Amino acid sequence: MKIHEYQARQLFRKYGIPVPEDVLCYTVSEVEKAAKDLNRMVVVKAQVLVGGRGKAGGVKLARNVEDAVSAAKQILGMDIKGYKVEKVLVADAVDISKEFYVGLINDRNSKTVTLMASSEGGVEIEEVAKENPEKIIKFHINPLTGLLDYQARDIALQLFGEIKTAQKAASIFKKLYKLYVETDATIAEINPLVLTPDNEVLAIDGKMNFDDNALFRQPEILAMREPDEDELVEIDAHSKGLSYIRLDGNIGCMVNGAGLAMATMDMIKLYGGEPANFLDIGGSSSPQKVIDAMNILLNDKHVKAVMINIFGGITRCDDVAKGLIKAMEVISTDIPIVVRLSGTNAAEGLELLKQTNLPTVSSMSEAAQLAIELSNNLIFTPHK
Ligand code: GDP
Ligand code: MN
Repeated sequence: MKIHEYQARQLFRKYGIPVPEDVLCYTVSEVEKAAKDLNRMVVVKAQVLVGGRGKAGGVKLARNVEDAVSAAKQILGMDIKGYKVEKVLVADAVDISKEFYVGLINDRNSKTVTLMASSEGGVEIEEVAKENPEKIIKFHINPLTGLLDYQARDIALQLFGEIKTAQKAASIFKKLYKLYVETDATIAEINPLVLTPDNEVLAIDGKMNFDDNALFRQPEILAMREPDEDELVEIDAHSKGLSYIRLDGNIGCMVNGAGLAMATMDMIKLYGGEPANFLDIGGSSSPQKVIDAMNILLNDKHVKAVMINIFGGITRCDDVAKGLIKAMEVISTDIPIVVRLSGTNAAEGLELLKQTNLPTVSSMSEAAQLAIELSNNLIFTPHK
């Protein structure tokens, strides 16, 4: 689960990380009032669940109230990487001497929470990692001891080169780690962490992601949830008993069982296609589930072909076929749909499907190849 910058700033404050004052605004007149109240230079910032807002024109400094109003007019309603800006943060602007980066992630290789820090802050850290990997300090935090004072200080000193300022940064690193662990975060990033001309160290941007599987014990975090469009679809699918994760490709897949769903995505990739999603309709499937799943798949504009891959165990293939027939009665689509049924009641299922004009195949590799070829509008010749 992702949260907005303004929410990350609230959590930072709660943990004692210094953050400039701010006000969340939904309209231009709210921005005008906030800028008047803050009564100094402000920065108007788009609140969308995506990074790189600055580059996209979604972060603007404003010298006075008029500037703030005109920035708000430009930013509210703007589209940033497919996200519409519905609210902005009006924050006290800070004089910046230098921008730094600090972030915590779960590092799977070392199986630790890993702190990353860099003197090349402000820009996206992925770029620094590519161009100047030596400029990123990585420190694997021992889960038994946590981040110790001297360790935090050592890292901070490498960045700031002066002990008084480094002490301030070290304290921020420790607080960020405490926040990370206590909220079951998977990412906590301050970019930039800034040094001001009078040697204050402040967080002026925040990004946090949380482990979805821990939300049951994080009511305060869960209450911050403002799902984006993809997440809304996933939450809706979940409420219908489907596990669904949207991906970037164009072959929609509907599969029973998580393992088979993974294998199906691998198979699609093997033949040069790109899966549009992971979708597991679960162990036993009612026709309604199939209808719900088809609706979700076909509502994704990127889907150019659908591969249905069912291995009947507890799930009966004839049930799936009935669901498909019903679904095809209520859904009208030009998207080609390939069906592979195998296992319990496969013969009955395939027989039922004869009343539709859905192409059926018996092997998974044929299904993947056919779906890919149909997605390219090619004529299918099975590979022998
Ligand atoms: P992002 O582009 O989505 O990461 O948004 P940020 O909040 O990180 O802002 C992008 C850039 O705008 C920062 O790296 C700063 O260079 C600049 N910026 C943001 N807030 C301030 C501020 O208060 N004062 C100054 N001088 N620059 C700021
Ligand atoms: Mn940033």
